[in-house]
Amino acid sequence: MKNLEYLPYAFFERKIVPTEEAKVSIMTNALQYGTGVIGGIRCYLAGDKKTMNIFRLVDHYKRFLNSLKILNVSIPFNHQKLVELTLALARKNKPQTDSYIRPFAYAANIGLSPDLSHAEMDLAIYMIPLGEYLPLSRGLKLAVSNWMRITDRMIPARAKISGGYINSAMARGDVARLGFDDALMMDDRGHITEASAANIFIVRDGVLITPSKYSDVLEGMTRRTIIELASDLKIKVEEREIDRSEIYVADEVFLSGTGVQVAWIDEVDGRKIGKGRIGPITHKLQKLFFDIVRGKEKKYSHWLTKV
Ligand code: PMP
Repeated sequence: MKNLEYLPYAFFERKIVPTEEAKVSIMTNALQYGTGVIGGIRCYLAGDKKTMNIFRLVDHYKRFLNSLKILNVSIPFNHQKLVELTLALARKNKPQTDSYIRPFAYAANIGLSPDLSHAEMDLAIYMIPLGEYLPLSRGLKLAVSNWMRITDRMIPARAKISGGYINSAMARGDVARLGFDDALMMDDRGHITEASAANIFIVRDGVLITPSKYSDVLEGMTRRTIIELASDLKIKVEEREIDRSEIYVADEVFLSGTGVQVAWIDEVDGRKIGKGRIGPITHKLQKLFFDIVRGKEKKYSHWLTKV
């Protein structure tokens, strides 16, 4: 039997409905202008193969609401309600494998103008089974895109605005056609920002380095997790600008994100990174990350919400 591509129920127009019924009109404002905000949350099957846990659910919805605040729009659900709705949906869907939860707050009005002052925002949430988004068993091959990352004065990258993803889609689309796994994007001064849907980390001489929060990056939940884990492991962390050429000479490079999880990079722009295998710091952080999301690390169990 072919695997279901999505879980059976979605939250749509204020109620839980069969996912096939969660449909909008072609005239929907958000569909045409990208006037929406998305979230991306994962639930993981625990080590006991019975329990399903959502990773950093509460924190994800803080960012979701912050994204709406940046757009100066609101939805009729507060933080607590969003958490409750998501849990109710996940319980109804009863996922049997690792899954992805996609909340989407969108301008549901059919008005013919890109104008957020008239946006009538609604909320939809759906779930899909999701294993690896990009392979973890091999190192990824990246290319630096010549499309510039959107800046804070244009479309704030800190907010997960659906319209902003055309920037990611063009960058990744162009390098994917050339055979690369993903694109890295630079800011207006040539500093590396992030990949199409993931933050970047490099390791140089034992120091973990990632672009700062004011470098036109999404404030990634996995990024924040990695920084917290690194400091618990007494690994020095620097949040600062990274030049393109600094990536080439890094000992280790990896991407972090809800989709990619913690994925090591083998090659950037045709240059081999490090020793051509997963580096020791990446490996240590990746292992701890997976132990945490699978509920094997009691110390971090406060990041998990049981479905
Ligand atoms: N940057 C971008 C542009 C993204 O789309 C994502 C995925 N949400 C990330 C970074 C990683 O963020 P997170 O760890 O919260 O998934």
